[in-house]
Amino acid sequence: MIDLRSDTVTKPTAAMRRAMSEAEVGDDVYQEDPTVNRLEARAAEILGKEAGLLVPTGTMGNTIAIKLHTQHGEEVICESRCHILNYELAMMGWFSGCLARPIFAEGGVLRWQQIQKEIRPLGPHWAPTGLIEIENTHNMAGGTVTPISEIEALCDGAHERGLPVHMDGARVFNAAAALGRPVSDIVRKVDSVMFCLSKALGAPAGSMLVGTQEAMDRGRLYRKRLGGGMRQAGVLAAPGLIALEEMPKRLHEDHANARFLAEGLSKIEGIRIEPAKVETNILIFDVAGSGLTGAEFSAALKQRGVLANAVAGTLMRMVTHYDVSHAECQTALGACEEIARARAAASR
Ligand SMILES: *Cc1c(COP(=O)(O)O)cnc(C)c1O
Repeated sequence: MIDLRSDTVTKPTAAMRRAMSEAEVGDDVYQEDPTVNRLEARAAEILGKEAGLLVPTGTMGNTIAIKLHTQHGEEVICESRCHILNYELAMMGWFSGCLARPIFAEGGVLRWQQIQKEIRPLGPHWAPTGLIEIENTHNMAGGTVTPISEIEALCDGAHERGLPVHMDGARVFNAAAALGRPVSDIVRKVDSVMFCLSKALGAPAGSMLVGTQEAMDRGRLYRKRLGGGMRQAGVLAAPGLIALEEMPKRLHEDHANARFLAEGLSKIEGIRIEPAKVETNILIFDVAGSGLTGAEFSAALKQRGVLANAVAGTLMRMVTHYDVSHAECQTALGACEEIARARAAASR
């Protein structure tokens, strides 16, 4: 099976498995796991923040960040297709007592001019804005990258109004690879960042939250409350360190494969995608012209040994990663072409 459903499916490398078996460990709830401590320090250093916190999942990292920045009864401004609103089981309501104020933005890129008029003070009817959240790269907008200048303008505006900014940077290393800039340049002005070790970076599990020392100290307590006190977590931090240090440098290969897929798909009758808009490792395309729904197209692909998820209606998503080679992308393209061609022939 050629698995293009997500970069979450990547399996740990041989070096990661070796590092897991050899990891020096201790009890991380006592902050005595040397490997976890090293990972948290390195993550903070690489992102240019004071401190880091290893969490089991990205959802937990975002949940802790939202809790750290908000009070019950506040609103969180976010892009309407974002992960925290659509794919985290309403955690911002369940755990932090906040409502989302979703705003649709072209390409998933929230800009200060667009959101500043949405910021609300506490009033007799209004819930006050407590936090602004941006997603970079933006998953459901198709792996789009927010320009650094837009992030900084948004942070400047938000901070002037006394509002913190959290970045869901699940794939912020993909953004950095696409821009050819260090991650620390991208996140310089945001107050906290969550990124995933377990996606394109290939670790078997784990995400990082980074921010101020004071925030991470409080975040550690929320992590414990949520069931994330993992004891000898050095066995996860060890592959996490390899993910962090070694894997970012190869992400451009995934981006080239995604662009290759997009260009091929754009030439298939019945499929619509703009290859120029594919900036990183995610591509979203429309199969409406084939007469199939996304779910039907996905099922037909599966019969041909290719896994890809339907997003909604006639939209499909493919995600490239290091467990899918260029040759396999070529095979996947062939399968798409076959499905579209068979459909066109049947309707003649
Ligand atoms: C994957 C992802 C997360 C975190 O997901 P988990 O499965 O909880 O690790 C958060 N935000 C975005 C944009 C993601 O793609």
